[in-house]
Amino acid sequence: MSTTAEPSLFSRIAAREIPADIVFENERIIAFRDIAPKAPVHLLVVPKTAEFANVTELAAADPALLAEVVAVAQQLADEHCDGQYRLVFNTGAQAGQTIFHVHAHLLGGTLTEGTLGQ
Ligand code: AMP
Repeated sequence: MSTTAEPSLFSRIAAREIPADIVFENERIIAFRDIAPKAPVHLLVVPKTAEFANVTELAAADPALLAEVVAVAQQLADEHCDGQYRLVFNTGAQAGQTIFHVHAHLLGGTLTEGTLGQ
């Protein structure tokens, strides 16, 4: 569960309060370009609900929504990077998570071979 009373940055993007380069949207998910891309294609795939801070919480509470995040990631990868991609869920501050509203990083294009880094 999110512990903050303030809307998350991603909720504000979904509400059009903060501009973003939105590439996909349906009732439950929004996707937009990361403002600081770490790969030729770097999209964030975000459930609109701010109820879940990370992928573990999402998987436990709503596995169908997690599956939909993956399906949207595949669709976007088909459109933006030849269907090939890396999907990253940073979970916890020590792992690099800065926004505690669950989101997938979809990284594509030519990625550094043989590494797991962004
Ligand atoms: P994480 O560090 O896993 O929580 O990922 C948060 C991501 O959000 C980072 O890759 C940031 O570059 C990205 N980000 C922060 N602010 C914005 C914004 N206004 N629009 C798009 N992406 C953003």
